[in-house]
Amino acid sequence: MPKVKAVLGHVSVETALRKRTCSRHKSGKVAHPIYKDEACLVVKDSDGSKHNYCQESAEDILDLAANDLAAFRSALGI
Ligand SMILES: [Zn+2]
Repeated sequence: MPKVKAVLGHVSVETALRKRTCSRHKSGKVAHPIYKDEACLVVKDSDGSKHNYCQESAEDILDLAANDLAAFRSALGI
């Protein structure tokens, strides 16, 4: 059986070993860090840069991705 292509290789969950910056809330009034031992969503861009997202942002990102996946399934009729 041919291997199934994994398309989410650039997305993972990591536990911060030290403080990280939340890429969505990095400036202004909403700015906040991701603290040590906190789980965060990590997205690697095609240029190799890594973006860390807090729990709240991760929920929004995964909700949007779930909607996109559902739309793809619907468009394919599967
Ligand atoms: Zn955040």
